Amino acid sequence: MARHEENSIAVSGEKPYRILVVGGCYAGLAAATNLLDLCYGRAPRFTPAQSTPTHRLPIEVTIVDERDGFYHVIGSPLALADEDYASKAWVRFKNVPGLQHPAIKFVHGSVSKVDTKSMKASIIPHGKSTPFQHEYDYLVAASGLRRAWPVVPQGLSRIRYLAEAQGHIDAVQGAQHGVVVVGGGAVGIEMAAELKLVEPSQKVILIHSREKLLSSEPLPDDFKDETLALLRSVGVEVITGQRVQKISEPDSNNTITLTLSNDTTLTTGHVINAVSRSIPTTSYLPPETLDPDGHVLISPTLNFLQTLTPNFRHHFAAGDIAAWSGIKRCGAAMHMGHYAAQNIYQHILSTRIEGYEPEYKMISEHPPMIGLALGSTAISCSPSEGIKQGEEVLKYMFGDDLGFSICWNYMRLGEKPQMEEVDLAVIEGVSDLHLEEHGTRERSSSSTSPDMSPRTPVDTTVDPFAKQEVQYKLSPVTVKIEPVAG
Ligand SMILES: Cc1cc2nc3c(=O)[nH]c(=O)nc-3n(C[C@H](O)[C@H](O)[C@H](O)COP(=O)(O)OP(=O)(O)OC[C@H]3O[C@@H](n4cnc5c(N)ncnc54)[C@H](O)[C@@H]3O)c2cc1C
Repeated sequence: MARHEENSIAVSGEKPYRILVVGGCYAGLAAATNLLDLCYGRAPRFTPAQSTPTHRLPIEVTIVDERDGFYHVIGSPLALADEDYASKAWVRFKNVPGLQHPAIKFVHGSVSKVDTKSMKASIIPHGKSTPFQHEYDYLVAASGLRRAWPVVPQGLSRIRYLAEAQGHIDAVQGAQHGVVVVGGGAVGIEMAAELKLVEPSQKVILIHSREKLLSSEPLPDDFKDETLALLRSVGVEVITGQRVQKISEPDSNNTITLTLSNDTTLTTGHVINAVSRSIPTTSYLPPETLDPDGHVLISPTLNFLQTLTPNFRHHFAAGDIAAWSGIKRCGAAMHMGHYAAQNIYQHILSTRIEGYEPEYKMISEHPPMIGLALGSTAISCSPSEGIKQGEEVLKYMFGDDLGFSICWNYMRLGEKPQMEEVDLAVIEGVSDLHLEEHGTRERSSSSTSPDMSPRTPVDTTVDPFAKQEVQYKLSPVTVKIEPVAG
């Protein structure tokens, strides 16, 4: 055990805590960046009003992502319709200023296995077939859902993605007999509307099998009806209550024929399938940690469930991958990532300081809420605000770039981290220390960690898509953000 003086600890040469973040999108980057703030003695960027942490901690955050950059998933409907926007929506990690910090490492690859007992992960580097082992002290599973083409692009590098997006844009622009989008869920609706925005002269038809759009979402019928009317008002033709039974190959005239369940047919030049089901990317996790649909079972502290996971205090899941209430949204993903960071920080302190009572953040239940961008307008529905629609809603919820700048600025990805010289030789404010050599730190937290009782009120003010007005109040962006093309 390290020797220390009163109110300070000598940790010179101490190995950093190894945080493995699986997935570098909204949840994963929110976890990494807020943890960086806390461990370098700053209030977390999502709650700058929070008092400055007194304890600095040595960390090494490894972000693993199958993609080589941050991809703004929400922007997919526009990225697949507009080449300038496509270029903006994917920023290679090496070009994200906010991630250029010695404590953050990036691995372009895929996590293929996690052993929660030994706390080792297998990572397959991009383009390779053999995994390497990576030991960690904390894991944040933030790898979201596996989404099919063309819901999101499948390319794993910016170059491939741009080629993929361009191919799609060309196909849509070249479709002389119009475009049909199959599937009236959120993605299909947004894709149809964005196509109409970018190509106003193109005939766009959306076909949905049920009478109401958004039929699988737990949203009020009024909202579904208003969404239908709004979609029609932006020029999209909508057919509801008809299942597409058959899609022909293009004929010599590049015409595709669709047969509907009422035996009618219609012709088009291009078909976009927006009905595929998204699947949690949890194949790398022990099956017992998952619910029947494959989402990670978590407690309100974002920890894997204690009863199912050894070292549960060292395992977190955030974002779409987690089994939690509400419609999957990026605001919720960032919120969860932030709380995972807070709770990792608290848990580390509890293992270092005798008698320290960690103040774990607890997420609340997420009520169903949604915001849909429909070209130059938008519609939203939430329990607190009801149904709203119009250009102002678009501006408020998505800005002028389908939420790219809102997310980018909120996570402060455009700001270079402060490169202050952090002297980890002296960490103040710690009166007792339980620090062992790296690798022998207390791991099985069940004996040392207190209950998950909420000591801190749940902070619901940091979900930028749930409460934008609060976001702006809490997180004023003072720097000019210039997204960096990779
Ligand atoms: C077309 C579309 C439009 C949307 N519109 C909105 C909207 O308007 N508002 C809203 O709030 N939400 C919207 N959503 C939902 C929102 O995008 C998700 O809730 C959000 O992306 C979840 O973030 P996440 O970080 O949990 O996961 P993701 O964004 O899915 O990120 C997961 C990351 O993990 C990586 N990954 C996956 N598996 C592995 C692995 N094994 N190893 C390493 N890396 C891995 C992926 O490459 C990815 O970068 C939309 C979704 C889609 C598809």
